[in-house]
This record gives sequence, C-alpha cells and structure tokens, in this order.
Amino acid sequence: MKYVILGNGVAAVHAAEAIRSLDSRGSITMISDEPCDPYCRPMISMVLEGSVTADRLPIRGPGFYESLGIQAVLGNRVTSLDVVGSQVFLGDGRAFGYDRLLIATGADPRPVKAAGADLGSIFTMRTEAHVRRMLEVLPRARKALVLGGGLVGFKAAYGLLRRGLDVTMLIRSDYPLSLQVDETAGILIRDELTRCGLQVRVGLAVKAFEGNGVVQGARLSDGSAVDCDMVVIGKGVLPSLDFVPRDRIPVDLGILVDEHLQTWIPGIFAAGDVAESVDIARKNRWVNAIWPEAVQQGRIAGMNMAGRRVTYKGSLSRNVIRIFGLDVMTAGWVSPPENDGFDVLQHTDRRTGTHRRLVFREDRLVGMTLVNDIEQGGVLTSLIHRELPVRKPRESLMGRSFNAGQLL
Ligand SMILES: Cc1cc2nc3c(=O)[nH]c(=O)nc-3n(C[C@H](O)[C@H](O)[C@H](O)COP(=O)(O)OP(=O)(O)OC[C@H]3O[C@@H](n4cnc5c(N)ncnc54)[C@H](O)[C@@H]3O)c2cc1C
Repeated sequence: MKYVILGNGVAAVHAAEAIRSLDSRGSITMISDEPCDPYCRPMISMVLEGSVTADRLPIRGPGFYESLGIQAVLGNRVTSLDVVGSQVFLGDGRAFGYDRLLIATGADPRPVKAAGADLGSIFTMRTEAHVRRMLEVLPRARKALVLGGGLVGFKAAYGLLRRGLDVTMLIRSDYPLSLQVDETAGILIRDELTRCGLQVRVGLAVKAFEGNGVVQGARLSDGSAVDCDMVVIGKGVLPSLDFVPRDRIPVDLGILVDEHLQTWIPGIFAAGDVAESVDIARKNRWVNAIWPEAVQQGRIAGMNMAGRRVTYKGSLSRNVIRIFGLDVMTAGWVSPPENDGFDVLQHTDRRTGTHRRLVFREDRLVGMTLVNDIEQGGVLTSLIHRELPVRKPRESLMGRSFNAGQLL
C-alpha cells in the first residue's frame, strides 16, 4: 500500500504513526512546504512572548521519519491533485502516486485587504519562521498594531505586551476572543488586557498602511492614524486547500469529510484544520481549528487509511487560556442564538473576577465559559463532549464544587 500524507503538522504526524502501527510494510511519504521537523504550533506564541525558546518547539525527536520508515519531502508545496490518476504534483513538477491520500495541510492566515500590506514588518503568525522574523525586528520596535482579536491576534498582542511594546489591537466586535467566549467574559478579558497596558479600539478597520519600505503607521476607517513599527495580522485562518479540485472533492469552508474522515472520493481523507466535520454541540458542519481535534482526527484518519474502521464522533471547540491574572476555559457553543431553545445559567462576580456561564439544550450541557475557578472545567467539557443528560438540578453545576457522579 502506498500512503501519501500532505502536511507535516500534528494531524499528519498522528496519522503517520497510526498507519505505521497497523501497517508495517506500506510506504509512507509526507510532503510539506515547511522545511523543519514537526513542531508545536500553538507554542510559537510563547516564543514570541519570550517564555520558551525555539528549541522547545519540536513534538518529535530527531530521527522521527527514519524510525517510522517515512520518506519526508520537505520545503515543497503541493500545487495540484489529480484524483483520476491518483497523483499529487509539487511546484517543482515532481509527481507522487498514492493508493491512500491524507490531506492535512492545515490553514493559512486570512489576508488583509489594505493598501501597503506588502510593506516590511507586517507579519502573520502561523509558522515558527514567521515568529523568527518577528523576533528580528523586536529590538527596534516600540509600537505594535495587532489586527483582529481572535486566538492568534490575542496571543500576538499578549506576547508583544509582555515584551514591553505599546500595543494597539483593532477588533470588530466589542471584545477579543468573540468566537471563544461570551460577551461578559470577553469584557472581563478586555478590561484585564487594558489594565495591563493594551489599547483596544473597537469597530475599526485598516484602510492603508504607510511607511517607506517598512511600516510606520496605519490609516484607519474613521480617518484617524496609528503610529507603529510592526503589525501583526491575526484575522483568523482559512483552510489551506488551493490545490484541491473542488469539482471533484466537495468543499464548504473546509474539505467535507464523513465519520471516517474520508472525503467524497474513496481513498482520499482529510484531517485537522483543513477538514470540516460535524460540531458536537452545534450539531452541524463546522471547522474547529484547534490542536486536540487535529490530533484526534489525524489518528482516526490514519487508522481508517490502514484499513481499521474507526468512527470519529465529531469536533468540539475548547480552549484554556491564561491572560495575566485571569484563567479562562471554554468549550462548546458559548453564544447560541437567543430564544432558540437554549437555557443559560450565568453568574459573574466582578469583585473576584469570576464568571461562569453554562448553556443547555434540553437536558444536555452544550457550552460553557469559565473565568477563574476553572477547576471543574474538565468535567464540564466531558459532559458536553459525551452529550450526557444532566439529571440533578442543573443549578448545582454553578457551584464551586459539585459531585460529578451524582449529576448523571
Ligand atoms: C499562534 C497560534 C496559536 C494557537 N493556539 C492554539 C491554542 O491555544 N489551542 C489550540 O487548540 N489550538 C491553537 N492553535 C491552532 C493549532 O495550532 C492548529 O489547530 C493545529 O496546529 C492544526 O494542525 P494541522 O496538522 O491540521 O495543521 P498545521 O499545523 O497547520 O500543519 C499543516 C502543514 O501543512 C503544510 N502545508 C499547507 N499547505 C501545503 C501545501 N499545499 N503543500 C505542502 N504543505 C502544505 C503547512 O505549511 C503546515 O506545515 C494555534 C495556532 C497558532 C498559529
């Protein structure tokens, strides 16, 4: 059997390991445009922040490819896929045939449309190379502008603040992390960031970047200007699938996969940030571009590719984030539409900075946001993930301590 895996991120690594554990003889080829060994992508923000060094990033030791008998084709981008001839093509013209193909190419930063976006010192933050380049300009930088308050924009702003820069963040909604947390939690987070020096400007976009070769400022949609000597674009990501023939492989936001992570074409699978499966809480198709789902999807896709039928239940948004004095934990659908059959229990204590919001659909918990007092977050996440009915009065879940066993 000839397996080809596109990407060498965490989904690809777990797929390769799963394949090799079930098929010791098949050939495995991994193709990725990043030239380096697999690494922990979320930790690049900690390198920016200065809390870890780049040598801590690798997720597998040296010799990973050799020990699994993998042919690694690194530093090469896949430019097209021929599903009839079962071949992938690289930018340099080389072709690789496959019996089973995994697309695990992750996501690319969403570009920003503004004049001057090609000036120097304007960055995205997706790869360790991006952060390396940011670190080169840091010693000369005093003021940073961060576009977007999603996970990456937020982490960039946090890292640069911790490096001592003056940071301004432009966000569309009233608070950062609006996809991850509810409004009250978002405002607690915004206030904490502001207290620690972040300037947050709401409802504004960049019209143009200005500078002489290197960015020196930005002109905003309200006509005002911001001085800056570096910019980080953190306006979300888009699945990396420009080589995928959409007339053959159905794509919504991500590549559509079934419960075995297989696309509509037998033998072609997709996993990680590039794949669109079913969201457990929302009960519809969704891309949850997070690390634990990429791990799980890669592992299950690999097993199915090697012939073991394993079912993937679906994905669930979840995150744990430390923001100066706040611990934030979220899972599931935290802000479903109002008056649509959801019940919300919520309690906020601004004095202690604690907040708990639980969202129920009938007798199931489908979403939570915790700010501080996050100890029971794991149990609550498990309730959401396993879709277990809550039999005891659900109010008991609002307490600091509850007996999980008695609830079920
Ligand atoms: C700064 C940052 C912070 C994050 N923080 C968190 C967090 O706190 N919690 C969390 O759960 N998740 C977080 N994430 C998201 C997490 O990193 C991703 O969900 C995870 O890495 C996805 O893994 P993947 O294997 O699907 O894709 P990736 O890790 O993106 O790997 C895909 C690989 O494929 C390569 N590739 C793409 N296109 C091609 C092509 N055409 N040809 C060849 N190779 C290609 C890419 O270069 C890349 O090497 C964060 C991400 C970033 C960038």
